[in-house]
Amino acid sequence: MVAHADQPLYLLFLGAPGAGKGTQTAMLSSALDIPRISSGDLFREHIRNQTDLGREAKLYIDKGELVPDAVTVGMVMRRLGEADCARGAILDGFPRTIPQAEALEAGLAARGQAIRTVIDLVVDHDILVERLSGRWMCRSCGASYHLAFHPPAVAGRCDVCGGELYQREDDSPATVTHRLEVYYRQTAPLQEFYRGRGILHQIDGEQPIEAVYEVVLNAAGMGEDADSTG
Ligand code: ADP
Ligand code: ADP
Ligand code: ZN
Repeated sequence: MVAHADQPLYLLFLGAPGAGKGTQTAMLSSALDIPRISSGDLFREHIRNQTDLGREAKLYIDKGELVPDAVTVGMVMRRLGEADCARGAILDGFPRTIPQAEALEAGLAARGQAIRTVIDLVVDHDILVERLSGRWMCRSCGASYHLAFHPPAVAGRCDVCGGELYQREDDSPATVTHRLEVYYRQTAPLQEFYRGRGILHQIDGEQPIEAVYEVVLNAAGMGEDADSTG
């Protein structure tokens, strides 16, 4: 169960839509120089490239439903097998169901690997809605901004890459409500799953971005004191 220091580092982020997974994993990815793998970004890339997988995924994403496990697991495990993941990966938005978590665990175990740490960003429902309704995302690199809480330096442009910012269609109020229901029903049970593995760290995600990040670093074993097991 305990991953060795010379093993690839797999960190996994749980948390509802809007909890701050994308924001935190982007910061952590550049600090650790380990790629951030976002299942949502991978789907949006497939949709942009008009692949068969993208066409199928879009049917579910537009309704705020989860894409079927078989499609999702295949896509993410292929991505984890690419060369840049040799030193590990930071997973954002995957797994989102118990079968996905089991498939990930089995897939890593087959390579003699395991997830080191699971970080669950805990944020109240009303704050999630407020965050998603003001979210602007970069079309090129997937970075997240918020009109009030995390505005870009130049309106409409990404600080990181200069790309164009847009509002996601699935961040519209009706779809957000449904996505949150789906989260509580299908994804929240993963908290118990990983608590049982002894690797779950629950973090108060309602603090400012920098304050959350400090706790994230500790939970990931990179900070001053690494004791925040929930
Ligand atoms: P958010 O950042 O708001 O949590 P994502 O970008 O992670 O949203 O996901 C957008 C959509 O992509 C989800 O609503 C869902 O339809 C689909 N999706 C992303 N990850 C998964 C997953 N692990 N399993 C099934 N569907 C997923
Ligand atoms: P997720 O990937 O979990 O769906 P994001 O990282 O995209 O969440 O964040 C959702 C929205 O909330 C974005 O507009 C982002 O700028 C904003 N946000 C992220 N973290 C915080 C925070 N700690 N405080 C306030 N707003 C935040
Ligand atoms: Zn960008």
